[in-house]
Amino acid sequence: MASHPADRIAVPPGPRFTTLVAGLPASVPFVGPETQERSRGAAFRARLGANESAFGPSPAALRAMAEAAAGAWRYGDPENHDLKAAIAARHGVGQDQVVVGEGIDGLLGLLVRLLVEPGTSVVTSDGAYPTFVFHAAGYGARLTRVPYRDDREDLEALLAAARRTDAALVYFSNPDNPMGTRWTAAEIEALLDRLPAGTVLCIDEAYAEFAPEGTLPALDPDDARLVRMRTFSKAHGMAGARIAYAIAAPPLARAFDKVRNHFGVNRIAQAGALAALEDAAHVADVVRRTAAAKDEIARIAHDNGLAPLASATNFVAIDCGRDGDFARRTLAALVRRGVFVRMPAVSPLDRCIRVTAGPPEALAVFAEALPEALAEADAPR
Ligand SMILES: *Cc1c(COP(=O)(O)O)cnc(C)c1O
Repeated sequence: MASHPADRIAVPPGPRFTTLVAGLPASVPFVGPETQERSRGAAFRARLGANESAFGPSPAALRAMAEAAAGAWRYGDPENHDLKAAIAARHGVGQDQVVVGEGIDGLLGLLVRLLVEPGTSVVTSDGAYPTFVFHAAGYGARLTRVPYRDDREDLEALLAAARRTDAALVYFSNPDNPMGTRWTAAEIEALLDRLPAGTVLCIDEAYAEFAPEGTLPALDPDDARLVRMRTFSKAHGMAGARIAYAIAAPPLARAFDKVRNHFGVNRIAQAGALAALEDAAHVADVVRRTAAAKDEIARIAHDNGLAPLASATNFVAIDCGRDGDFARRTLAALVRRGVFVRMPAVSPLDRCIRVTAGPPEALAVFAEALPEALAEADAPR
């Protein structure tokens, strides 16, 4: 029997990706320290690269998580009710103004999905926290990236780009990652008032607990222009539990219910976060120990003739005093010595390496490795 002409058309094997996905790079925003350990064939001696809190979770959160682990056969509460109620009470907002999700990273993906379709304008900074851009690209956003100015996100330039492109979404983190700098609450409130109508500003406040007084704008949970993100990954020491929240006016906050993964937040994380939220003394202790660690990192930098940047976070960006290639060689030499650190991706921020505040033992390893790494980066090749 003669075959039908359509049967002879060469169909490429494999899944028929959407045009959008077919056009995305294969890259991931982060190469994990575990990946690096596998390729080094050895564990890191000091884990100072991911802004985790090596001071750990609150003992109360650990107990709550251990207890919840025994009940892991049950799904978690899909409404995250108890945690949401506690967060709402803590911030004096309504439960309908709180969204709980799988880390800020997960919430950023949902936010972008809510506001972005192919061609939608989105504005961020060149060199800012990469997960936002990762999600924006994944939904086909028309991205505008403005350069940092004096090692801070340039609020005026973000605003101008938002106006010029009629952006649906503007993103920045305050305090900032990767530089550790900050804007004041008053400066951010002034920006908000000049935002074009219909533009949503997402402020990523992953480092809120470490920020000096006067950094975080007052929460107005009815302000439809704003969504704020907080996480249990940093000061609460629960990065591996994947839990965070957003606060926004009800029309935006409740829209997350249309797209979120309803059982995405696991019950161990729910229990841990609830206990962590109530242990203010632990957070205060972590903030104190982090401040001491940042002083020590700054001292180590000075000892090596380098300039630490003032930090409003739980890490210190150290200016290595030359160009990106020198900082990259320094970082690679640190990694070879078992010190996990990261650095900004774009010039001129990439003259810095970024070192997370950690316990004295880890910083001692860094102090020992840094002069050797600098010498190696300096050696003629
Ligand atoms: C660490 C970090 C995050 C990640 O938060 P998760 O809740 O762990 O997903 C988000 N934003 C910034 C700016 C960060 O530095």
